[in-house]
Amino acid sequence: MQSPVRQQPRVIIVGAGFGGLEAAKKLACEAVSLTVIDRTNYHLFQPLLYQVATAALSPADIAAPVRAILSKCRNVEVILAEVESVDVEARKVKTTDSIFDYDYLILATGARHSYFGHNEWEKLAPGLKSLEDAVELRRRILLAFEFAEKTTDEAARKAAMNFVIIGGGPTGVEMAGAIAEISRYTLSKDFRHIDPSQARVILIEGGPRLLGAYPEDLSESARKQLVELGVQVYTNARVTDITEAGVQMDGEFIPCRVKIWAAGNNASFVGKTVSASVDRVGRVVVNDDLTIPGHPEVQVIGDLANFSH
Ligand SMILES: Cc1cc2nc3c(=O)[nH]c(=O)nc-3n(C[C@H](O)[C@H](O)[C@H](O)COP(=O)(O)OP(=O)(O)OC[C@H]3O[C@@H](n4cnc5c(N)ncnc54)[C@H](O)[C@@H]3O)c2cc1C
Repeated sequence: MQSPVRQQPRVIIVGAGFGGLEAAKKLACEAVSLTVIDRTNYHLFQPLLYQVATAALSPADIAAPVRAILSKCRNVEVILAEVESVDVEARKVKTTDSIFDYDYLILATGARHSYFGHNEWEKLAPGLKSLEDAVELRRRILLAFEFAEKTTDEAARKAAMNFVIIGGGPTGVEMAGAIAEISRYTLSKDFRHIDPSQARVILIEGGPRLLGAYPEDLSESARKQLVELGVQVYTNARVTDITEAGVQMDGEFIPCRVKIWAAGNNASFVGKTVSASVDRVGRVVVNDDLTIPGHPEVQVIGDLANFSH
């Protein structure tokens, strides 16, 4: 497929997330023919996904149309498409319905959840990476309260009021805190047969502390604040099974309707197609200028890149 302003170098950016969009803004209105490809037509502000998942914000508040952001520069074309692979030798990007030639490529397709080989858990315990994930989690959380309000089965009511979050990194901590807040404050007066503030919010972390990648004093501060909100925090705890009925944590079975996965990430599969080394979680190992070995015309950025220089 032909890109606009053909005589200029053809640059393709795959992914209009934080990395790709920043690169696109720098190259927009420069002397290149720029094509931005993303499978969604909006740029998503992921740090506020948890607020959509807990109904504090609506989806449009955190999604901005990519076309509108880049529309002022005539050298930019935005394509809505899912990229399947990159052929770095032939310099081609293959989408589900087309092939694009490039002179320079910036790959920024980010990451998705990883269920450590238990892909069957994905439906039972969705993660929080996309707008669809956030809307689905919001639906499950709000419907759990509605179900608890209506049911006359005490065990089922209890299970509906148990919210289990697996993974004590930033996303898990934010989700646990936000669910505790809506149950203690936002929803506290809205029901007649249940007391939402009695919801049990359980945060399960496999490592010895929450926010393991951050300094210990921040972990401790997060733990304290969550406990003050009523969150039950388990560390050094392993989830060994997830079913419709609940979560098996070491020797204890926690009955619950809503389970949220915040325990692991894998880089986008597109990285594996560029014929470069990838690490344990699928990130492309890049040179110190973000290019890949043997291909100075290809850069990999953001969550897809393993930069260890
Ligand atoms: C819930 C949550 C909260 C976060 N909070 C913070 C925070 O507070 N502070 C912070 O610094 N970081 C935070 N992060 C991390 C931050 O959002 C990421 O590090 C950042 O988004 C990575 O940018 P990226 O450009 O590599 O990928 P992304 O921003 O994920 O963008 C990837 C883009 O590629 C597109 N794409 C993917 N695959 C394909 C394909 N095959 N074909 C076409 N398009 C594709 C996607 O649609 C997306 O637009 C958070 C992440 C999450 C999930």
